[in-house]
Amino acid sequence: MDQSFEVDADVIIIGGGFAGAVALRELSSRGVNCILLEARDCLGGRTRTIEWHGRVTEVGGQWLHWLQPHVWSEVTRYGLELYERKPIQRVRYASGGAIRECSVGEFHDLYSGAWQTLYAGATDVFPRPHDPLYAQAKLAEIDKLSIRDKLTADGVEGEVLDAVRGLASVSFNAPPDDGALSQGMRRLAMVGGDPDLLAQTLQQFRLRDGTRRLHSAILSEGKGSIELNAVVSQIRQNPQAVEILLADGRTFTSRAAVVTVPLSTLGDIEFSPPLAKGKSAFVSEGQMTQGSMFWLRLRNMPQEALLALAPPEHPLSYLRVDDEEKDGTVIANGFSPSRKALDPSDRSAIEKAVRLWVPKAQLVEHVYHDWATDPFSKQTWTMLKPGQLSSYFDDLQRPEGSVFFAGADYASGWFGFIDGAIQSAHVASRQVAAYLQEKGLEHSGSLNKVDKQQRVA
Ligand SMILES: Cc1cc2nc3c(=O)[nH]c(=O)nc-3n(C[C@H](O)[C@H](O)[C@H](O)COP(=O)(O)OP(=O)(O)OC[C@H]3O[C@@H](n4cnc5c(N)ncnc54)[C@H](O)[C@@H]3O)c2cc1C
Repeated sequence: MDQSFEVDADVIIIGGGFAGAVALRELSSRGVNCILLEARDCLGGRTRTIEWHGRVTEVGGQWLHWLQPHVWSEVTRYGLELYERKPIQRVRYASGGAIRECSVGEFHDLYSGAWQTLYAGATDVFPRPHDPLYAQAKLAEIDKLSIRDKLTADGVEGEVLDAVRGLASVSFNAPPDDGALSQGMRRLAMVGGDPDLLAQTLQQFRLRDGTRRLHSAILSEGKGSIELNAVVSQIRQNPQAVEILLADGRTFTSRAAVVTVPLSTLGDIEFSPPLAKGKSAFVSEGQMTQGSMFWLRLRNMPQEALLALAPPEHPLSYLRVDDEEKDGTVIANGFSPSRKALDPSDRSAIEKAVRLWVPKAQLVEHVYHDWATDPFSKQTWTMLKPGQLSSYFDDLQRPEGSVFFAGADYASGWFGFIDGAIQSAHVASRQVAAYLQEKGLEHSGSLNKVDKQQRVA
């Protein structure tokens, strides 16, 4: 690369979610000049904290845990406080066209044997869960299988099958049958193979002041300029620079780029030279998630912390009552496994879906962000189909020339989570710094048009 060629920044980071924010902090702390380009008019990506009904409410990613090492180290670094969810008191589950009710212990007894058998051997397939391809031969066998294949082989049926498919449809945010068995195993291996600990890790603690507080704390330590409403449409590499073209006609140049966009939107950026085979094959196959998440304020509900769970044929396959308001209404969290089956903007369809659980319930109000139709996410979190992890993952993570990839959807450990976004940004920042050093381009600030770094709030 020609060092005398003048560029706008050493590195351009595309996307301002957690991966982009951490990349900005990590690279600028090494003296690298950065510009962050974000397509939306706000930062945070697939996390978004809003004030709703006097509550700090997350309409995107939220749950985190000390067993997620990268996000937990950020919680420690910035001294953030946790909010703990109330434990569930009763469970309603749908099976064979009927709604049944039981205690938490009874429900646990119903599904846990089949759940453990479904994901048995997780720590053998992923003995080093932060290196998911480590046991390649074992993974190759398991990764051929779908959830349906394994449940059929295990002979799971009746209400146990309904309960297990219900649980799996929450993690896949989709009908789980065609999802990769390896996905559930990978998550389980992250907590040493303990399903109850996994459940706690994924849904018990969030940040009292919201993910926005963590995101802005990270950004406050980053230096560089941030451009909002900057939709990247093309990334071209040439021997002098990376040229980044925006949909509005603007162009930026840099010595390297870090791409952090969600996998479902990667195909909307034209790369020249084109993306490696594995990446483009994955982009055209697509990932699994297709549902949505809501917060609901409901009247005429049981005044206890209820969990309702159904197989994915139910439009609202997960409903969990979290809190009670002074006026007797309750705040509940809901997931639909299919946006097509339940349009999040359709108030009466949502009320109808809630009434399948509690016939007299009334929907007072609800809030959500429609990530599946948002052009800058087109999905919630990434979940894979059989074969995708073993066939494409290596390629997906691999840098291409001076273009590097980071984000939850490219993460080695907590794939699809905030933790993974942070972890992958650390890896990409290290790779970019090494690349600049190798090319003799480190601390090239004097050559840059962006000579005055601006601290971002
Ligand atoms: C409803 C929901 C619930 C979730 N629950 C949890 C949870 O409880 N715990 C957890 O850990 N995770 C959860 N997740 C997942 C988690 O939120 C994400 O995995 C994580 O926030 C992704 O961070 P990221 O930086 O990798 O990507 P993103 O946050 O998606 O950031 C990528 C950024 O790139 C931008 N972008 C896209 N295209 C372009 C373009 N062409 N040009 C410029 N910018 C572009 C986007 O606007 C976005 O800001 C949830 C996600 C959703 C949607």
